[in-house]
Amino acid sequence: MLAVFGHPDDAEISSGGTLARWAREGRAVHLLVLTNGDRGSEDPARDRAELARVRRKETEAAGDMLGLAASQVLDVHDGELENSPVVRAEIVRAIRRIRPAIVVSCDPTAWFFGNPNNSSNQSYDYFNHADHRTAGAAALDAVFPGAGNPHFFAEQLAEGLQPWKVSEVWLGWTNEPNHYQDVTGFIDLKLKALAEHRSQVEGNMLGFFEQWLPAEAEESGKKIGVLHAEGFRVLRLG
Ligand SMILES: [Zn+2]
Repeated sequence: MLAVFGHPDDAEISSGGTLARWAREGRAVHLLVLTNGDRGSEDPARDRAELARVRRKETEAAGDMLGLAASQVLDVHDGELENSPVVRAEIVRAIRRIRPAIVVSCDPTAWFFGNPNNSSNQSYDYFNHADHRTAGAAALDAVFPGAGNPHFFAEQLAEGLQPWKVSEVWLGWTNEPNHYQDVTGFIDLKLKALAEHRSQVEGNMLGFFEQWLPAEAEESGKKIGVLHAEGFRVLRLG
């Protein structure tokens, strides 16, 4: 299993229950974070290089909490992620090295979240971060036609990496889920892993997540008759 996300805390928020469950079941779950999260602060005095170092450590601690086999954070600046050959090469390299059956990422077509008919002032809408959309697009392009075709990033073959075809892609943060993964019993672990991203849950943010994430998981759980679930748009590639 390989999870590919834009920011250090994205995997936990969107798919943490699923990743924790797979790890508990004995599967090797790897995480590739495409930016270093160095703009994840509203404090203008915060040193961005120092924040990147902090977030790398938080990613390790959160990964340990989820039971991940390994995590890697690229040195791309937060907010500047591009679906470039350089970024795709890193994802392809991870796929060819880890040889995952499933790649988990986020839905690049999801621009808007919230109620499409929201004309009241009772609830808020929001739209998806560009790094999230770009991470999903780059992950898909790396899966196909990248990782499985020897003519893409052929220099990696000389390093001993062979082409690898991924069987399934699971896209979280989607408006078009076609699969709900039962994560009953793993919500606490998801929240504990998220809490390891201390720089991101200062103030009352952890309380916000502790309300929102279980409520969201309960809504998804109702679709399949379990207490907690996470929704994905699953692509079965063969
Ligand atoms: Zn994010």
